[in-house]
Amino acid sequence: PAPIHVVGGGLAGSEASWQIAEAGIPVILHEMRGVRGTDAHRTDGLAELVCSNSFRSDDATANAVGVIHAEMRLAGSLIMACADKNQVPAGGALAVDRDGFSHAVTQAIENHPLITVVREEIHGLPPAEWDLAVVATGPLTSPDLAKSIQAETGEDQLAFFDAIAPIVHRESIDMDICWYQSRYDKVGPGGTGKDYINCPLDEAQYNAFLDALIAGDTVGFKEWEGTPYFDGCLPIEVMAERGRETLRHGPMKPMGLTNSHNPTVKAYAVVQLRQDNALGTLYNMVGFQTKLKYGAQAEIFRMIPGLQNAEFARLGGLHRNTYIQSPMLLDHSLTLKSRPGLRFAGQITGCEGYVESSAIGLLAGRFAAAERKGEEIVPPPATTAFGSLLGHITGGHLVHDEEPGKRSFQPMNVNFGLFPDLAPGSIVKPEGVKRFRGKDKTIMKRQLMSVRALKDCREWLGIA
Ligand code: FAD
Repeated sequence: PAPIHVVGGGLAGSEASWQIAEAGIPVILHEMRGVRGTDAHRTDGLAELVCSNSFRSDDATANAVGVIHAEMRLAGSLIMACADKNQVPAGGALAVDRDGFSHAVTQAIENHPLITVVREEIHGLPPAEWDLAVVATGPLTSPDLAKSIQAETGEDQLAFFDAIAPIVHRESIDMDICWYQSRYDKVGPGGTGKDYINCPLDEAQYNAFLDALIAGDTVGFKEWEGTPYFDGCLPIEVMAERGRETLRHGPMKPMGLTNSHNPTVKAYAVVQLRQDNALGTLYNMVGFQTKLKYGAQAEIFRMIPGLQNAEFARLGGLHRNTYIQSPMLLDHSLTLKSRPGLRFAGQITGCEGYVESSAIGLLAGRFAAAERKGEEIVPPPATTAFGSLLGHITGGHLVHDEEPGKRSFQPMNVNFGLFPDLAPGSIVKPEGVKRFRGKDKTIMKRQLMSVRALKDCREWLGIA
């Protein structure tokens, strides 16, 4: 068979190449390091870990990233095999010796009889003669290639920054304090007029919150992150510093909202949360992109009435990150709708993290190999961690919004908020247990989702 071209030998590209080659299809892997570096990589090794050496929790019984580890092992992942071989002690987490890990991946790829590694920068989208290709050039995709992606997809379809507002698990929001309502009860496309969750603040609460925001510890920009702020995306603490009324006239304005628990008292300020996934299990804090340190964020945002017990699926941040608007651009097999045969994989698709990038590389590699063999492409079930993450990327995203043009797709780690709910009645108090609290229910839910995911993944892979 003709080879499949993979651009980028990072985590996703290495895994994609391995999966394709293991399916018996030749691969040409184009990696620019060796010829041109990035602002974060320090070596020429494949699958270099640019920052932490952790693949996070390895608990496959109740942790979403642990579950995706297990699914990747079942699918014969090279990244997981090399991580397991180079593990260093880290409690329940899977951490690795970064050089040993990258070396193992490089050796395995370079020694595979069906893989050829070419050290070169690819300046534009794959040429037409590469009928099947995977672009896995990561958050630091080189500028020429980024420009051609932009030219193909449209300017506003490729982001260079990740301006992230915190995302909260809906079940941790106190609905005895908050209420559902869209501003002025406006009904957007697909909406109901009750699309937002609103948290009311009185004057004293607003002032205390503002003081905490201004005093909060922020993360400085690294030099390579370039232009700090851009239009319409000011960090919330920077807005707070501009004047005590700025937030009340910006993202925290109370107009057009009536507290259903207390309709006669007008809130002094309101924080709105907007549905973030089609399942309705995750909500993002509207306009709350921030550079506050993680610890400070959790503490300060829990001062907001209704969020006192908030569990965050993702905290806010502002980073250099190249990624495409995948839900608009990619089909369910990660193929660019406008260019059949061209797939994207890794962080550039809008997943976040070493493990997630590798997992999406694994799927892109399998899909490309199946296409080359003329086989039907069967995506993983939505109940698996693979399927949940793929759903986030290729379309499980929000269905309605007041300002459709402004809706933004944000990269995310795998988490149980992306998994479809369990069948009603699945969570039952175990016999002999006296107190079965909310926390116990959450743990049981995660355990049941993990078991379901691994069972369905085995079935998908045809493993008994
Ligand atoms: P990469 O691993 O970056 O691989 C992309 C590859 O493509 C690179 O080898 C690059 O040289 C190559 N390339 C780029 N352009 C071209 C081109 N035109 N032609 C040929 N080759 C090209 N995630 C975590 O889980 N933990 C962390 O601690 C963490 N820290 C991060 C720190 C930074 C500074 C950044 C930017 C990201 C971090 N991430 C972290 C996020 C993400 O998980 C990693 O960036 C991860 O490496 C992404 O995998 P990838 O395969 O998509 O991209």
